[in-house]
Amino acid sequence: MTHVFHRHLRQTPPVAAGSHGMFIRDAEGREYLDASGGAAVSSLGHAHPEVLAAMHAQIDKLAYAHTSFFTSEVAEQLADEMIGSAPEGMSHVYLVSGGSEAVESALKMARQYFVEIGQPQRTHFIARRQSYHGNTLGALAVGGNAWRREPFAPILVPATHVSPCYPYREQRDDESAGQYGLRLAAELEAAILAQGADRVIAFVAETVGGATAGVLTPVPGYFKAVRAVCDKYGVLLILDEVMCGMGRTGSLHACEQEGVVPDLMTVAKGLGGGYQPVGAVLAQRRIVEAMSSGSGFFQHGHTYLGHPMACAAALAVQRVIRRDGLVAKVREDGVAFGAMLAEALGAHPHVGDIRGRGFFWGIELVADRASKTPFDPALKVNATVKKDAMARGLLCYPFGGTVDGRLGDHVLLAPPFIATRQD
Ligand code: PLP
Repeated sequence: MTHVFHRHLRQTPPVAAGSHGMFIRDAEGREYLDASGGAAVSSLGHAHPEVLAAMHAQIDKLAYAHTSFFTSEVAEQLADEMIGSAPEGMSHVYLVSGGSEAVESALKMARQYFVEIGQPQRTHFIARRQSYHGNTLGALAVGGNAWRREPFAPILVPATHVSPCYPYREQRDDESAGQYGLRLAAELEAAILAQGADRVIAFVAETVGGATAGVLTPVPGYFKAVRAVCDKYGVLLILDEVMCGMGRTGSLHACEQEGVVPDLMTVAKGLGGGYQPVGAVLAQRRIVEAMSSGSGFFQHGHTYLGHPMACAAALAVQRVIRRDGLVAKVREDGVAFGAMLAEALGAHPHVGDIRGRGFFWGIELVADRASKTPFDPALKVNATVKKDAMARGLLCYPFGGTVDGRLGDHVLLAPPFIATRQD
């Protein structure tokens, strides 16, 4: 009998006992090829000796010092390096312990920014359906995953949800990808005007959608049009790159490929690659300056902000990725990876769509390809895929089934950047 409050209360998962490179080993000695990096976390693979050495060195020096008293060398170094490679105008990094914390922090930063600049009437967030921004209450409120929201809906702050960029299901036959992107931007504009343009704080979106509707890559021009709409009404653009960021899609930040710069951007999973719980918000200078010249304080904070061990792990992971040119490798090998998936699975009668970028691929499973009809959620196809894959020594990340009661089943493949073509 377990005393761990597991995700599933009627089943206990196998015990992970060790790991190396692309593999996790369970207590019975079975090895699993980690083709999803957990949930797109393990960017560098497991037990990288240089990361372990950096963590050992850090713990010998300083394991923890509360950020109301001290900063640390390692937090300063990490922030310097992250800003050195950040989108234009970003000046500060707020270091937290994971993705949901990063999103919560970004939402509050955005709200406080408007309070500081004398626009306290801005109280409303707009986000997208079929999105995921985390499980804490603020992040869940902007998230558009109906299944995750349902039990908690009555205690979530109201937010508006517009359409995601989901060409496989929602681009019309009579419109081009460009026209589809513009239609979505027009929908966002209408939602802003419906709320009252001076009441909206921010539009929140994953640059490349992750754990709700398979990997959703934006159509060309969509984010540029979204950026223009936000600018027109003084609405902030918060891009959530917790899953798709830090090299996963073949550029360090996914927004680079869209040609847009957000006002706030969240990152997490690939930042620390799973070696420590760590996430961050990258903020534009004018947002930080509004606070520093106003109240002088961000009215937020967690006990483990800028945790030295988390920073040491993230710094080491990011340095190895940069030194070894792994983002360029992901970009190049990602093309081959997509082609391999298309060749192996593209004609499968239950594969509706294969989409992605870099080492971030989603496979949408359907009962019928021609009509794109999803499987009956009661069949729990994604759970079966996960179980069968594990039985064959493969970790892939399935989700869906009951998303909006109709969207069906998806499998996410997001291997560590070190994966070879053989893997
Ligand atoms: N945002 C996105 C886009 C995510 O994919 C996730 C997690 O999957 C989160 C936020 C929440 O991150 P965490 O699980 O680290 O709290």
